[in-house]
Amino acid sequence: GRVEEKLYQNRYIVDAGKPHIAIEPHTIPSRNLLAMTKVCPAGCYAETDTGQVEIVSDGCLECGTCRVLLEPTGEITWSYPRGGFGVLFKFG
Ligand code: SF4
Repeated sequence: GRVEEKLYQNRYIVDAGKPHIAIEPHTIPSRNLLAMTKVCPAGCYAETDTGQVEIVSDGCLECGTCRVLLEPTGEITWSYPRGGFGVLFKFG
């Protein structure tokens, strides 16, 4: 699955029950929100069968793209994972 693929690329500690990004309920996603399904480098955003956008933030690389685009408009809430959780990048 998606999360397992991310775990292969980087070590990722899931803070169970405390997702650090949440999408506000919506009927029709904005262009920017919909675009995240293609732009997020971690593939966290996906379009549902009914046309909304959902997120599984496990595997998020904390690149900040969605935060810059969608936090100011209130479409998402975004916070860094608590210390000790989230992505631990592999160097070398
Ligand atoms: Fe994807 Fe970057 Fe947003 Fe994380 S911060 S969900 S990697 S766009």
